[in-house]
Amino acid sequence: MGEFDQRLERGKGALSIPNKIKVAGIVYTVEEKDVVIIDDCAGYVGLYNYKDTRIEILKDMTLQRKQETLVHEVLHAVLFEFGLKDHDEELVERAAQVLYQVLKDNPNLLGNYQTSIVQ
Ligand SMILES: [Zn+2]
Repeated sequence: MGEFDQRLERGKGALSIPNKIKVAGIVYTVEEKDVVIIDDCAGYVGLYNYKDTRIEILKDMTLQRKQETLVHEVLHAVLFEFGLKDHDEELVERAAQVLYQVLKDNPNLLGNYQTSIVQ
């Protein structure tokens, strides 16, 4: 396993997920957690909290799984900020899977500019 693959497997360092994301001008913190709890139930891989502007991602996953989960939670944030607070979970599930693939398969989708959007 090469260094890239090892980092990909561990999901650490430069290849980890960001700890802040901006959606519609709102800065969301992204926290990696040992356990993600929703309504007193553990076993979730991700969480989106509108009021706390916070996203949680389960720590014990590969980087790919974390990224896929992050796209899912960001899509929730997009829909909430858009005003669609009562959106369908299945729609998010399906759309996020395809959006994740589009983003992964087209790294230059928005050009080669790699600027940080969150200070
Ligand atoms: Zn969801």
